[in-house]
Amino acid sequence: MRATVMYGAGDVRVENVPDATMRERTDALIRVLRSCICGSDLWPYNSMEPSKHGRRMGHEFLGVIEDTGPEVAGLKVGDVVVAPFVWADNTCDFCRAGLHTSCRHGGQWGHALDGGQGEAMRVPQAQGTLVKVPVGEDSPLLASLLTLSDVFCTGHHGAVTSRVRRGSAVTVLGDGAVGLSAVLAARRLGAERIILMGRHKDRTDLGRTFGATDVVAERGAEGITRVRELTGGDGTPAVIECVGTEQSLQTAINVVRDGGVISRLGLAQYTHVPMGVDTMTRNITLTGGAAPVRAYMEELLPDVLNGSIDPGQVFDRTVGFGEVPDGYQAMADRDALKVLIRP
Ligand SMILES: [Zn+2]
Repeated sequence: MRATVMYGAGDVRVENVPDATMRERTDALIRVLRSCICGSDLWPYNSMEPSKHGRRMGHEFLGVIEDTGPEVAGLKVGDVVVAPFVWADNTCDFCRAGLHTSCRHGGQWGHALDGGQGEAMRVPQAQGTLVKVPVGEDSPLLASLLTLSDVFCTGHHGAVTSRVRRGSAVTVLGDGAVGLSAVLAARRLGAERIILMGRHKDRTDLGRTFGATDVVAERGAEGITRVRELTGGDGTPAVIECVGTEQSLQTAINVVRDGGVISRLGLAQYTHVPMGVDTMTRNITLTGGAAPVRAYMEELLPDVLNGSIDPGQVFDRTVGFGEVPDGYQAMADRDALKVLIRP
């Protein structure tokens, strides 16, 4: 079968690899219908050391079940399923607490396993991992359903952990696919004021479609001043940080209202959090992290199925397998917001 392998910075290839096969009684085998490139895939694309054997890529995918092990209940051949970006048993103490990213029997796609940017996948802990979606293989909803695998659930995690609720005011830092998803998720939870900080107009325009009430294109000190002007000098009680740089975190600290919450979704590119005594006196909470998307999928699925939200609008380019390397380059060049892969 064909699959995407990264050999180093800027070196992504689609190659023939051994076919995905069943190994454990708890496995399922799926044929991939849709997958995509994640903003987090760009970090290795920009910096990975050359590797002889390469690394299988992709952790967001949706597919059709082709086989199930004898210990997999509730799923059958032909079901269309979405997978979260980590696999999990959905039964251990961490999973029961809604923290599937810390599952005692879970793990990450790629590495020693198949990656989502391929034709087929062996799915460990299939019963706990996969969520059946009641659509056909050619449903027009596939792109939006795919966002439940990571990007939209991640935005939702930011909104939930920053305590967005009906009537909230929230600032979202970053106009990438996660930031825009956070806007949509905050709107869905009833936020009334959503300030989106981003400087790419085509992206912030989609942010307005998703529910942003204000867009701040300035960065650094100017951006902080602008958000404070918009909020009577106080900042917003909720801030969702979707960039991952120290500068962005510093901006978040400066635009959060005293007593407020900052949720981090951007993959942290810093090792120290600049929160000293000045932030103690302001009683700021710092939370967020890798989203336990499996905990959110069933809650968000009905809104995608009934069309009340359309998170798949973050995909602005679709490629076939042959063009996956071009898809990476387009995202790295910011020519594409998020690239959908259709085998
Ligand atoms: Zn678990």
